[in-house]
Amino acid sequence: MKKEIIQIQSLCYSYEDKDDVLQDVSITINEGESVGVIGPNGAGKTTLFLLLCGILKPSRGNIRINGKEVVYKAFNRSVGYVFQNPDDQLFSPSVWDDIAFGPMNMALSKEEITKRVERALEICNCKHLANRPSHHLSGGEKRMVAIASVLSMEPEIMIYDEPSASMDMRSRRNIINLIASNKKTNLIASHDMEFILETCQRVILIDSGKLIRDGQASDIMGDFELMEKCGLEVPYSLINSKYQDSRTA
Ligand code: ADP
Repeated sequence: MKKEIIQIQSLCYSYEDKDDVLQDVSITINEGESVGVIGPNGAGKTTLFLLLCGILKPSRGNIRINGKEVVYKAFNRSVGYVFQNPDDQLFSPSVWDDIAFGPMNMALSKEEITKRVERALEICNCKHLANRPSHHLSGGEKRMVAIASVLSMEPEIMIYDEPSASMDMRSRRNIINLIASNKKTNLIASHDMEFILETCQRVILIDSGKLIRDGQASDIMGDFELMEKCGLEVPYSLINSKYQDSRTA
């Protein structure tokens, strides 16, 4: 039986000046699942992620990771969060230092830190960037380094907030391959529906802070009426396959 790694129960969240950003959201995620979190702008996706990392504190309800309640403002080594904007993640003098920052703060040995940085550089195809200053990199390079800086902490759960935003085709493909080939539990918020379709079998659809649907990616994202109602588009590849199905029926 699959292990339940994330349990979200009746989660509610209000910002000081914005009520009901999340309303009674309950989700269970199994170890090793890749789950797409979709919804229009302002649906509450980033807020959900910030709550999962303990950066925000639930107004009501709770979140458990590996059976333990997420502690507000405490570093949780099980969860790695790749921010929407890589500039929020990278601040060291070099790419190497940025990727070593997390492992160094986990009090690992020098050898282990080196091993982890090298592994993360390799996975993210960033070896050639190791000695460059992160702030001199292109947007796509920065995003890969930001991912490497989270992977080096080797969290069980990876959370990606809009990972394909402003990426060229090759960099986007690199991230798809990276996510599709890792064995971690992945949560991915994106407006790039094809990206979600390629990386996630399951999708959670949120609108106005409410969980609207939770199920198989192709079922939810192929539902024209539902997607339109939530201000989203059916990915082209699903439109195409439905068209093919209707021709062969
Ligand atoms: P999404 O990631 O789905 O675009 P967010 O979680 O960023 O949605 O935002 C959900 C809602 O919360 C939006 O209405 C947004 O304006 C509001 N919001 C986000 N951050 C804050 C904040 N720091 N203070 C007040 N309201 C916020």
